[in-house]
Amino acid sequence: MVALRAGAATDVGQVRSNNQDSHLTSDPLYAVADGMGGAAAGEVASALAIEALNNGFHHSGPPTPDLLIQAAQTANRAVWDEAEANPEMRGMGTTLVAIALVAGPELAIINIGDSRLYVLHDHELRQITFDHNLVAEMVAEGRITPAEAEVHPRRNIMTRALGVEPEVPIDLFVEEAVPGDRYLLCSDGLPREVHDGLITSLLERFADPQAAAKELVDEANRRGGNDNITVVVVDVVDEEPAATGNDATTALPVAAPEDPTAEQPAGTAGPGGPDVAPDHPPPAATAAPAPPGRRKRSPVTVRVVVFILLFIIIVVGAAAGIVWYARSSYFVGLKGSQIVIYQGRPGGVLGINPTLKRTTPYTTSDVLSSALPPLRSGQEESSLPAAEAYVQNLIAAYQTAQRNAAPPTTTPPTTTPGTTAPGTTTTRPFSGFPGTTVKP
Ligand code: MN
Repeated sequence: MVALRAGAATDVGQVRSNNQDSHLTSDPLYAVADGMGGAAAGEVASALAIEALNNGFHHSGPPTPDLLIQAAQTANRAVWDEAEANPEMRGMGTTLVAIALVAGPELAIINIGDSRLYVLHDHELRQITFDHNLVAEMVAEGRITPAEAEVHPRRNIMTRALGVEPEVPIDLFVEEAVPGDRYLLCSDGLPREVHDGLITSLLERFADPQAAAKELVDEANRRGGNDNITVVVVDVVDEEPAATGNDATTALPVAAPEDPTAEQPAGTAGPGGPDVAPDHPPPAATAAPAPPGRRKRSPVTVRVVVFILLFIIIVVGAAAGIVWYARSSYFVGLKGSQIVIYQGRPGGVLGINPTLKRTTPYTTSDVLSSALPPLRSGQEESSLPAAEAYVQNLIAAYQTAQRNAAPPTTTPPTTTPGTTAPGTTTTRPFSGFPGTTVKP
C-alpha cells in the first residue's frame, strides 16, 4: 500500500526579521505558502491560506484532485475576504504549493505563485511546478535565458498570487505515486541560495525526510539566507496498512499566528461600504451615578457640565480627525481602464468618499499586468506628487519591459500546464462574485 512520509523545516533566514512562510504536514496533504504584504500581513496571508486549505481538504469527502483545487480556491477566498475586511491587510497575498495523495494511487499537485515543487526520481531532480513570476514567463517565452533570469532585477515580481483577487487560476499536475520517489516543496528562499545540483545531492544523502528538510534549510542559511526558507520533503513509500497508524503524530503543527479571522465573519465588507474595521466600543464610560444625597449640590452640576463639554470636544475632535484621515491621502486607482488619482482613501472612510483629483493619460494597457492588482485596490500615497511619481514609475517599468522584449515578435503566450495561461488573471471578468466591481 502506497503512503507518504514527510519531514519539514522552516527558518526566518539571516536577513529578514519575521518569517512570512507557513507550511502544512497533515497526511495525506502537504503544503508550503510564502506570504507577502506589509507589517504582519504576509504572515497572516500564508497562515490563513494553509488553514483554509487544510479545512477544505480534510472536511469534504474522499481526496481527489478536484477537492484539492476547491480547497485552494477556498483558501484564496479566505485571504481575499480578510484583506477586504481589514484596510491594514490590503494587498496581502501568498504563494501556495500543495501535494496530496489521491486515489490511483496518484499525487495531485497544485501551485499558485513562485514557491516550488520538485520530484527526485532515479537520481534526477525535476521541477514540476511553473513559477508564476515575470522572469520565469520571460524565460518560457524565450525572451531571456535562465542564466539571465537568475540575476534579473525584477525576478521577484510575481504574476499570480493567492488572495489578491476573488478567484485565482490554479495550476494542477497529477503524478503517478511511485514508491521511492521523493517530493520537495519549498519557498523561494531555498532555490535562491541552493542550486539544483546541491539540492539533489543533499536529498540523496539524507534518507530521513526530516533530516533532509533540516539540512536543506541549514544549507540555504549558510549560503546567505536572504529570505525565509521553508522545506517540506515528502517520500512515497510502500508499507503495510497497519504501519500507518501513528504517522500523523510526526506532523508539525501549522505555525499559525493568532487567528485573525476569529473576530468577525469573513466577507462582510463589500466594496461599496466603508472599509473600516468594526470598532469594539469599550464599555460605555458611564458617569458614576451620583448618590441621592449629592443631587442638590453644585459640584455635581459643574461635573456634569464639564463631562458634557469634554464629551462634545471628544466627539468633535474625533469627527475632525476622521475627516482629516479620510481626505489627507491620495491613491492611484482605476476609472474604467483609465489610471486616475483620487484624493481620499480607497473605499472611502465612514461615508466620506474619495474624489477624483487627476485623470492621467494612461490606461491599464500602459502598465505591466503585475501593476494591476494594486491599481484595482487603490495604491495609497501620502501626497499628490508621490501619487504622480508612482504612475510615472509604472509607465517607466512597462516601457523598460517593452524595450527588453525586443525584437518584438508576436509569438502566442506559451501554454503552461495549468488550467489557465499566465496573464489571464488581469483580464478575467469575475462577474459571478459579489465584491468585484471596480472600486471606488
Ligand atoms: Mn520568499
